[in-house]
This record gives sequence, C-alpha cells and structure tokens, in this order.
Amino acid sequence: MKKTKFIKLKLREASFISRGLLSSRHPVLAHLIPMRRCNLACGYCNEYDHSSSPVPLEVIKRRVDRLAALGTSIITISGGEPMMHPELDDIVHHIRLRGMIAGLISNGYYFTPERIKRLNKAGLEYLQISIDNVNPDEVSRKSLRVLDKKLGYLSEYADFHVNINSVIGGGIKNPEDALTVARRAVELGFSTTVGVIHDNDGTLKPLSPREKDIFQQVKKLGNKDHARLNWFQDSIAEGKPYNWRCRAGARYLYICEEGLVHWCSQQRGYPGIPLEEYTMGDFDREYNTEKWCAPTCTLQCVHQVGILDNWRDPQKTPAQLAAEQKEKDSVGEMVRVE
Ligand code: SF4
Ligand code: SF4
Repeated sequence: MKKTKFIKLKLREASFISRGLLSSRHPVLAHLIPMRRCNLACGYCNEYDHSSSPVPLEVIKRRVDRLAALGTSIITISGGEPMMHPELDDIVHHIRLRGMIAGLISNGYYFTPERIKRLNKAGLEYLQISIDNVNPDEVSRKSLRVLDKKLGYLSEYADFHVNINSVIGGGIKNPEDALTVARRAVELGFSTTVGVIHDNDGTLKPLSPREKDIFQQVKKLGNKDHARLNWFQDSIAEGKPYNWRCRAGARYLYICEEGLVHWCSQQRGYPGIPLEEYTMGDFDREYNTEKWCAPTCTLQCVHQVGILDNWRDPQKTPAQLAAEQKEKDSVGEMVRVE
C-alpha cells in the first residue's frame, strides 16, 4: 500500500474512532454478506453453502445506502466467499462513494494480478485472509502452501492494507503452523494477527503450554494495534471467561444475504429484523442488552468495537429489560385510563 494512501487511511480511521467515542448512537462496523456460496468447505465453518446465487447488485447497494443512513463507519464484505460475487468491485466502489471505509474478508483463492488491480481501482482499503495451516488437511484448505503464490501477487500489486490472520487452539493439529504463517506474512510486508479459537466441541479450554508459547511469539510478530486491543485473548488462552459488553446489534451489525440484521455470524436469528426496518429503537435495545454468549466469545472485531463503549452504559439482561418495558407499559396504561 502506498505510504500516502496508508496515512490517509490512518487519519480517516482516527476520525471514525473519535466520532465513535464522542457518540454511541451509530454503528461502527457492519459485516455485509453479498454471497453465501463458497468454493471451500472448512470443517469448522457454519457460514457457507455450495448452491446460493449472488445477491443482486441493486439490492446490495440499497443495503449499503441504509447502513450509510444509520451512520455506519466501516463496512466489511464477507461471506461465504465474496470474491465469487461477479460485481464485487461495484459493491466496494459504492461503499466508498457513501464515505465509509471498505474492507473485505476472503479465503484468498481468487486473487490474480488483474483482480487485485480492479480492487485497487474500486477503492478497497482493507483485506483480511485467514490461513489455518501450512499444508491442506481434511479440516481446512486455507493453507499457506496453496495460497503462497496469491500472497506474492498481493504483496506486489495491492494498494490496500493486507492482514493475515492465523489461528491457534481448537485442536489445530500443528500449532507451529501459526508461527510459519505469521513469519511469511511479515516477510511479504503484511500485518498479522492471531485468533484463539474454542475447542471442537465449543468448550473453553486453556491452551497447552506449547500453544501458549507459540501464541505469545505470533503476537509479538503481529500488528501492535491489534495486540493492544485484543486483551480478551489472554483470558481465552487461559480458558477463562472475559468480562466485557458486547454491543452487537447496535455498534456492530451482521447483515446476512437476506438483508436481516443479526448480532453476529455465530448468533444468527437475533434479532433477525430486516435492515430497511431497523430503527434506532432496535439499536438502543440491542446496545443495552447483555449478551449471554459474551464471556466466551472469540470474535475479535466485535470485541474491538466493544472497547469504544466498555467504559459507559452498563447493560441489562433481556429479562430485566422486558420487566422494565412491562412497567413502562403499565404506567402508560394507567395514565391513559385516568
Ligand atoms: S473459506 Fe471461509 S466461508 Fe468458506 S468454508 Fe472456509 S471458513 Fe467458511
Ligand atoms: S458475544 Fe460474541 S457471539 Fe455473542 S453476540 Fe456478541 S459477538 Fe456474537
């Protein structure tokens, strides 16, 4: 990424962070899904199919416009595999036209010099690729050996920030792979992050001493900003719950291919309201709702967004909020009767 573009992006980020600190009444980050289909079938993933069609461009543009109207700062396009969407460049361009930061999460398989140049032109600002292992196995083909040529193209042609995420825990066979992936990312001039994941059965178990050692080494190699923002990972690495306020459904939005707002990729169905009908009343309710899944959550981006408001506005459980609403309704009823 050119130095001038990098400085401009950092300045824009800083202004969005200040805006997020000054006001808690707009979304900071939205994940938008234009494509549920994926070319891979990772063993741990519940976010793909092999048959759905891309969401039409005009429909996606309307969703981008609605997110802009809500005051969203960043839109990250995710999937499935969003590079399979035939009009991805137009989606990126539209996000930029509406003044928001445009990011992309991809498995990396479709990057060619020509595709990268088109994304440069469209105005893409961030790309994240997660690499799970060095050699493909029965669980994941998001592998350094398969993707290394693509990473080379990105290093040569991308005029956007590239972050390579590796993973540790969750029964990943060779924890050392995370270190190999991170070292290669740094060698190619990319930033790198590491995700701690739950065990295969979803339980929170401490990392083994060997995994912990590698986790610390990868963190040292990585993006210092992310390391500073990801304190929660130290608790997860120890197998301990983490106390924080998840603002999903408000400061963070997950918009599925059907245009419904969900808390996140792992809690689809809540609240499940169409984006075009999503009001600031919905925003406030979700902002104030304590999420039962927060103590063991490993979703880095939602944690990072949560930091903006962790110091303010304590949350209540859904039962407490429902009781308060009932009380308000009965007072309203009494006033109407009188
Ligand atoms: S590449 Fe991503 S979306 Fe596709 S199956 Fe793997 S984790 Fe899921
Ligand atoms: S705590 Fe994590 S899993 Fe639960 S809603 Fe928030 S982001 Fe999703």
